[in-house]
Amino acid sequence: MQIIDGKLVSQETRKDIAAQVAALPVDKCGPIGLAVILVGDNPASQVYVRNKINGCAEVGIKSTLIHLPADSAFDEVMTTIKNLNADPDVNGILLQLPVPKHLDEAALLRAIDPAKDVDGCHYVQKGKLWIGEPEVIPCTPYGVMKLLDYYNIELQGKNAVVVGRSNLVGKPLAQLLLDRNATVTICHSRTRDLGEITRRADIVCVAIGVAKFLKADMVKDGAVVIDVGMDRDENGKLCGDVDFANVAEKCSYITPVPGGVGPMTVTMLLQNTVKVYKVQHGLN
Ligand code: NAP
Repeated sequence: MQIIDGKLVSQETRKDIAAQVAALPVDKCGPIGLAVILVGDNPASQVYVRNKINGCAEVGIKSTLIHLPADSAFDEVMTTIKNLNADPDVNGILLQLPVPKHLDEAALLRAIDPAKDVDGCHYVQKGKLWIGEPEVIPCTPYGVMKLLDYYNIELQGKNAVVVGRSNLVGKPLAQLLLDRNATVTICHSRTRDLGEITRRADIVCVAIGVAKFLKADMVKDGAVVIDVGMDRDENGKLCGDVDFANVAEKCSYITPVPGGVGPMTVTMLLQNTVKVYKVQHGLN
């Protein structure tokens, strides 16, 4: 069994991204910039935002944090997005989710110029992914694919099962696996006999938000298991959607939590920022 080292792959990918940033024609096209909008004071969101800002500094991307109060009116957030859409120094815009409940999250995400949508959340970017012409790939599924590729895990013709069908993770991940010629099954909360389906899988990806959900008897010997979950166990300790202690011994490859998929998400956001810069300036 091999543990997939997300920290290592993330570090190596960031070195590559830093080299890509250093090679950008900033004299001609201007600096590369990411704007992050945080509405409110959700502690987890604050940590995620800090990681994104630090990640930008690490690879040479200029970042701007726009921190709005939790009781901001919808129009105020909308105006912020529109101003950033129009700002030529801002290449990428990220709205940290979740936004406070009184705000229409979907409408705000739709307002971000798809050309600046570094999260790949806009339906234009999702449509491009769906027709097999991806431009900006949602960060977490993109990170999963990077991990699979780094470890040369064969996907073609394999049975891949994705548990979870969110727009952010499950659906785009299934699409990416399909594009790589895996035979993909998507499971969700209404799926019957889920264990019977996951037991047939060569690759199982779990993204549901239920601590230690995937048990050893739901996985076949030699399977590749990718755990996207970020949950808390009964002692409040960070864990994933996979019962790692018991599942790991059956796997050929498995991602741990922490240290698996998590470190890749911010890294792929940085990659997406470089991508939108290049598309905006007509570079390769
Ligand atoms: P989400 O939007 O809440 O979606 C959860 C999905 O899981 C839904 O499709 C739901 O099915 C399904 N589901 C829930 N309980 C289930 C069960 N008992 N059996 C089968 N399917 C079930 O969650 P998300 O945003 O995709 O996030 C999923 C997990 O990944 C969370 O732990 C989150 O913290 C983590 N995450 C991690 C990263 C990272 O960087 N590592 C990034 C994003 C998310 P229905 O559609 O039928 O309701």
